[in-house]
Amino acid sequence: MSARESHKTCGFVLRTLGFGESDLIVTFYSREFGKLKGIAKGARRSKKRFANVFEPFSLTSIMFSRKSSDGLAFIEACDILDHYAAIRSDLEKTLIASYFIDLADHFSPEGKANETLFSLLTDFLSLLTREPVSDVMIRFFEMRLLKISGFDPALDACVRCKTPVTNGGAYYFYPKAGGIQCAACARPERYDQCISAGTVRTLLLGKDMEIEKMKRVCLSEDLSVESRNILYGFISYVLGKEVKSFKVMEQVRRYCP
Ligand SMILES: [Zn+2]
Repeated sequence: MSARESHKTCGFVLRTLGFGESDLIVTFYSREFGKLKGIAKGARRSKKRFANVFEPFSLTSIMFSRKSSDGLAFIEACDILDHYAAIRSDLEKTLIASYFIDLADHFSPEGKANETLFSLLTDFLSLLTREPVSDVMIRFFEMRLLKISGFDPALDACVRCKTPVTNGGAYYFYPKAGGIQCAACARPERYDQCISAGTVRTLLLGKDMEIEKMKRVCLSEDLSVESRNILYGFISYVLGKEVKSFKVMEQVRRYCP
C-alpha cells in the first residue's frame, strides 16, 4: 500500500455534501490541483476543527493528503483566506457569486488544474465585493469562462460565409453551430430572435477587456436581454442542462429590484 502524500493549496469551496453522521464531502476549485474532492472527518459534528470554513465560494487554505492523484483527499486542515463578507451581506451579490461558482464547477473536469480559471474566480469575486452589481459583470464572466473552457462562441464573423460583423447588421446565434450567422445565411425559425451587431461587439469586448475598464460599459435594455439569451442559451446547450443557480439569480434579480 502506498503512503499518503501531503499537500497544501488554496481553493474556493464549490459545494458540500453530508456523508454519514459526522463527515462532509467538500469539492474545491484549487489553484494547483483544479477541482478537488475531499472528506472532512467530523466536520458536521464538531465545529471546532473546521469552523464555518465550508461555505460556498469561500476562499480557503487547504492541507490534505491522499494516496493517489485521483483518490479522495483527506482534509487535514482548512482555514478561511477570504469569506467575502461584503458579498454575503447582499442577497443579489450572493446569488451572482453562487452562479459564478456553479459555472466553474460545471465547466471544470476533476483533477485538471487551470490557473486561468482560478484567477477568473478571484478577479470576479473581488470585483463583486467592491462594485455595484451589473449585467456586464455577469455576461463578461460567462464569456471568459466559455473561452477558458474551450467553448469560445464564434462572434466575430458569420460561421457560414465568414463575413466579419458589420455595424447595423442583423445576426442569429446558433448554439449548435457555436456562433452567429448573418441575415443572408441564416434560415431563422419563427422563434429565433435576431440580434444586433452592437450586442455581438459588446460580447466580444468581454473576452479580454481589462477588469477595471468594465465598469464603464453600460448595456441598454435590448443589449442586456439579447446578450443574456445568447450566452445562457449557449451555456445550457453546451452543458446539456439548465443551470439551477441561474434560474434563482434571474428570478430574484427580476422581482426584487
Ligand atoms: Zn453569412
